[in-house]
Amino acid sequence: MYDIAIIGAGPAGATLARLLGTHYKILLVEKKTLSLPDGQQGSAKCCGGLLAPDAQRMLATMGLGLPRDVLAGPQLFAVRAIDVPNRIERYYQRPYLNIDRGKFDQWLTTLVPPGVDARQSCFFRSLDIADDGVTIHLAESGVLRTVRAGIVIGADGAFSLLRKQVFPLHPAPKSYVAIQEWCASPEMLPHFIALFDPEITDFYSWIIPKDGRLLIGSALRPGDQASTQFSLFKTKLRDMGFAFEEKGERAGALLLRPQRASQVFTGEGRIAFIGEAAGWISPSSAEGISYAFRSAVALADALGQGLDGFQKRYHRNTGKLRRNIRRKNCKAQVMYRPLLRKLVMQSGLRSIDVRLPEQP
Ligand SMILES: Cc1cc2nc3c(=O)[nH]c(=O)nc-3n(C[C@H](O)[C@H](O)[C@H](O)COP(=O)(O)OP(=O)(O)OC[C@H]3O[C@@H](n4cnc5c(N)ncnc54)[C@H](O)[C@@H]3O)c2cc1C
Repeated sequence: MYDIAIIGAGPAGATLARLLGTHYKILLVEKKTLSLPDGQQGSAKCCGGLLAPDAQRMLATMGLGLPRDVLAGPQLFAVRAIDVPNRIERYYQRPYLNIDRGKFDQWLTTLVPPGVDARQSCFFRSLDIADDGVTIHLAESGVLRTVRAGIVIGADGAFSLLRKQVFPLHPAPKSYVAIQEWCASPEMLPHFIALFDPEITDFYSWIIPKDGRLLIGSALRPGDQASTQFSLFKTKLRDMGFAFEEKGERAGALLLRPQRASQVFTGEGRIAFIGEAAGWISPSSAEGISYAFRSAVALADALGQGLDGFQKRYHRNTGKLRRNIRRKNCKAQVMYRPLLRKLVMQSGLRSIDVRLPEQP
């Protein structure tokens, strides 16, 4: 019997396993193959791969430095915000670390202590909760297995099967389908571009230069229209003068956007949630890696004092993060209201002047 079973080895799950692995008997379950036997990289999460300053601060406070091979290029120092219908654009200084998300997740799992029973290609299917523990049903490389644990942590991301199965009625954050496509381009942009266009989405779209290609993406309302909206977005980009060529490499993922702090759910009884499974993610920028780290640290601190009463401590430890979600929602009220956004961008508040190098 394990003390703790963690479902999902993304930034949240891998961090929790790293912090608790020497104190408890832990099972870490990951459905993906993160690293292959020949040392090659396995499948990567569909992600922009930008480490925002908050995530960088968390790495600093956790005493971690980033290995060089996790970095992608170019490193970016500004975001170019484009209000498409109003044809206004501004640059804002923002020091992002441009990373290879697959390598980043793989690196985080290498930090998990050897005492943790870490299983990849292992899919969590369902569980039964009893007074004396939880029975978990897994499919490991296609073989069905049953294990037992005292508590189970859902770190299984936006689509959390665990949250859907055990707490289907708890209010969930608003959801989006994020579509991303890797494209070839003759010009390599020196900044991250965020595009606001209500005709495409009530959230935002992006272009990220990465390792010689452009990552073009958009967070769209779910449904049959998502793919059509993405095509329209690319057409509009071409009309705006962006040159790129699709290579047929497209990925999609669910993305959450908590509109109230009450939509974030830390758990109950023997089940707790961290990272995006709980709903921890910025509603204004969709930055989720720092929230995955912060919630994992908050839960690790709560569990570090023992299993009894850990839910109360975890909830208390995340008070600041809850206030952060409220603040980001206030910010979103300005960013995503067309008139307010237009006024702020027209004013040039906090923007920087950028002189682009002349084309040869
Ligand atoms: C298109 C897109 C772009 C984004 N760009 C950025 C960005 O640039 N910067 C940023 O900070 N955030 C970004 N985010 C958000 C960020 O990716 C997430 O918020 C963050 O990864 C959450 O970490 P997590 O550990 O909670 O979940 P995840 O990273 O989603 O990890 C969950 C893990 O659980 C595993 N899992 C799921 N279900 C099961 C199961 N049933 N059994 C076993 N394992 C399971 C998954 O394989 C995965 O490895 C983006 C999100 C999307 C969709």
